[in-house]
Amino acid sequence: MARKLVVIGNGMAPGRALERLLEQAPDAYEITIFNAEPRVNYDRIMLSPVLSGEKAYEDILIHDDVWYADHGITLKKGCKAVGIDREAKTVAGADGSVVPYDKLLVATGSSPFIIPVPGKDLEGVLTYRDLDDVEAMLAAADKGASAVVIGGGLLGLEAAAGLKERGMDVTVLHLMPTLMERQLDAAAGYLLERAIEARGIKVVTGANTHEIVGDTRVEGVRLDDGAEIPADIVVMAVGIRPNADLARQAGLEVNRGIVVNDAMQTSDPDILAVGECVEHRGHCYGLVAPLYEMAKVVAERLLDKEAAYQGSVTSTRLKVTGIDLFSAGDFSEGKDREEIVLRDAVGGIYKRLVIRDDRLIGIVLYGDTKDGAWFFQLMKDGTPIDEMRETLIFGQNYAGGTPLDPTAAVAALPDDAEICGCNGVCKSKIVGAITEHGLTSLDGVRARTKASASCGSCTGLVEQLMAMTLGDGFTPDAVQPMCGCTDLGHDDVRRLIVAKELKSIPAVMQELEWKTSCGCAKCRPALNFYLIADWPGEYQDDYQSRFINERVHANIQKDGTYSVVPRMWGGMTSSAELRAIADVVDKFGIPTVKVTGGQRIDLLGVPKEDLPAVWADLNAAGMVSGHAYAKGLRTVKTCVGTDWCRFGTQDSTGLGVKIEKMMWGSWTPHKVKMAVSGCPRNCAEATCKDFGVVCVDSGYELHVGGAAGMHIKGTEVLCTVATEAEALEYCAAVVQLYREQGRYLERIYKWMDRVGLAAIREQVVEDAEKRTALFEKFLYSQRFAQKDPWAERVAGKDAHEFTPMNRIAMREAAE
Ligand SMILES: Cc1cc2nc3c(=O)[nH]c(=O)nc-3n(C[C@H](O)[C@H](O)[C@H](O)COP(=O)(O)OP(=O)(O)OC[C@H]3O[C@@H](n4cnc5c(N)ncnc54)[C@H](O)[C@@H]3O)c2cc1C
Ligand code: SF4
Ligand code: SF4
Repeated sequence: MARKLVVIGNGMAPGRALERLLEQAPDAYEITIFNAEPRVNYDRIMLSPVLSGEKAYEDILIHDDVWYADHGITLKKGCKAVGIDREAKTVAGADGSVVPYDKLLVATGSSPFIIPVPGKDLEGVLTYRDLDDVEAMLAAADKGASAVVIGGGLLGLEAAAGLKERGMDVTVLHLMPTLMERQLDAAAGYLLERAIEARGIKVVTGANTHEIVGDTRVEGVRLDDGAEIPADIVVMAVGIRPNADLARQAGLEVNRGIVVNDAMQTSDPDILAVGECVEHRGHCYGLVAPLYEMAKVVAERLLDKEAAYQGSVTSTRLKVTGIDLFSAGDFSEGKDREEIVLRDAVGGIYKRLVIRDDRLIGIVLYGDTKDGAWFFQLMKDGTPIDEMRETLIFGQNYAGGTPLDPTAAVAALPDDAEICGCNGVCKSKIVGAITEHGLTSLDGVRARTKASASCGSCTGLVEQLMAMTLGDGFTPDAVQPMCGCTDLGHDDVRRLIVAKELKSIPAVMQELEWKTSCGCAKCRPALNFYLIADWPGEYQDDYQSRFINERVHANIQKDGTYSVVPRMWGGMTSSAELRAIADVVDKFGIPTVKVTGGQRIDLLGVPKEDLPAVWADLNAAGMVSGHAYAKGLRTVKTCVGTDWCRFGTQDSTGLGVKIEKMMWGSWTPHKVKMAVSGCPRNCAEATCKDFGVVCVDSGYELHVGGAAGMHIKGTEVLCTVATEAEALEYCAAVVQLYREQGRYLERIYKWMDRVGLAAIREQVVEDAEKRTALFEKFLYSQRFAQKDPWAERVAGKDAHEFTPMNRIAMREAAE
């Protein structure tokens, strides 16, 4: 006699398990299915094509009514299972029915996670899980309304693309800095964002939803920063939670999901579980492939055969027409792994393979995913890749081939092969120009043909053409690359950041074809500075790209504690400030207090976790960060000038304070120190500073390019000006020019040696228009830079930096 099988849930996972079971033993069980959804089994992953209009519901059915009838299955549509009685071995339905079982299969899937913000229950707040959700979205789309999708993961982006196809105005809000960050690294995330935006969908990253606004139905979404985006519907697609309540109530073992062993049995051997509701070896899955592997084992086990599920390695693709991406495995950075990266800026292609111990462990492909399956197989099989390493990134067609000699490869190109995509220059034109005009330098080729003059990504190819044409007569220009991640030097990178309007680190790396996925400790801080300097107000500082002192806004000392230096404008202080400092020293038991060479007070020996509290007390007394750790303005040292000194010619203290108030907070390629002396006796040592002012009877002598560190160098006189206002304007103009031309970690004196004092004079002194423009640009960028970093951290920014590891909750640490 047939045994009784009850199935709770009628999704794709139990659907596949039943197919396998029925193929092998059609009469083994009498089957009853409870399904909360009022319909048959359909292909849930094809809901996105239904939403976008590429398919209809009928096209995505897996088992129609006839299938259930043919197999004698009782499908209780729209009937939720509400209880499992393990003693009596029965399942109770919401319709009052009670169905006995010999074996029970729980396949309740998962539910969308709803972020607990005010307004989450308003009419028009939708999720994306089943056909009802799609129908609700389509009803809104019919009215040509606007939608906000919260969540830039796989589901959120598919929903956004579908709604856009249906004519809605769509904005995607994503908490993290890049889209699909669980499946993609920042480089691929950047390309994805570009492609999504090219479809007319607005993407806001780093967006934390504060509230969904509206009276009875949705009117918009308010973010933490106060911005409000109008919306007629809000789709929440921020993750899923296994549906495990029913199992929990029945006393089965449940963690995040329903715990099963390799036989897919729950803690009750007669109850099996399958699909997204399951937790196996600590993993819950949210993709179909592993669920189907589980389903195979479930079918065997229901037939009392040996079979074991061992866990799955998963891969991801996005089902948005025209966007090709593939990712699998572990692509986080780590010392024990290396990577192979290939970028094609013109083609919008990015490929990254992560290797450990000669095996592929992570794959990210964007723009060209045709080898995804092959790479994935290599990864799953743990195939050693040593033999094919040189050509691996080019895919299966090149597997095992010998690496091409680059010059031979270029020689083999046809004459009409396009070399420079930006300017449409072909091979024969470049070769012709080289021979006809006797060109021997890259600059010469650029000037004649425009090849490599725009984005620069074809520079390597052009150089190979020159090598091929000129033979030994070609000596490539000795450009010192920024680091091993690129062949471009600092100046080219800066030029291209502006020319190509690149406004994020991933954008720079992709468009300039970085050889690594995320850069290194040399290029990341440099790019972060260049982007801040070139796009003030637009670029968001990437604090992860900063060195430790700039990350925590204090200088680390040799014992791991920090030093705290409050700003003292022009070296001036007061009894109130000194009292506040003394109180802080006593309160926090700060062991050492020292006067610095820059006329301020250094509190040494502060533990990292005390920093915010120390800053809070200093802030309360009106003091802000002295940026003693920054590649930015440090101090403006002054003498007492006409206020007190018999020799003073001008108010040197007053001018020093004004300069410091104008300059503080600015980021520069390296640290900048300044001074103002009230007469040529120069008590403030202005002639060994990056920028110095020596007051004279006729006005202000401006000095630039001094140093008194590892190198000693007196300043050069830039010019003499008559008024304080001019001194301020020239000072800001010089610093702005340095910000625009200086290479990261190049002090002002080194920059001056490189470009020449004459060139600086030409732009700052002789060209009044340029000077004014530089001055205004500097002031503009200061609007965004002059925020006290201590006050921001006292208010909670980057709190994790100052929390001792043992106080971070395990969950937070894991994330
Ligand atoms: C829009 C969308 C796109 C997706 N795209 C992809 C993709 O491209 N690739 C991929 O691999 N995966 C994708 N997925 C995920 C994939 O669809 C799921 O992993 C898979 O469908 C889960 O199957 P399941 O059977 O475990 O659960 P589900 O399909 O969630 O089925 C569970 C069913 O059980 C019912 N149920 C719950 N509780 C009860 C109860 N107490 N009584 C009765 N019935 C109950 C539910 O109503 C539901 O019908 C996508 C998912 C969505 C929503
Ligand atoms: S620099 Fe001149 S004005 Fe300033 S303190 Fe010295 S002597 Fe006096
Ligand atoms: S001079 Fe050298 S030892 Fe002294 S504070 Fe500077 S770096 Fe440290």
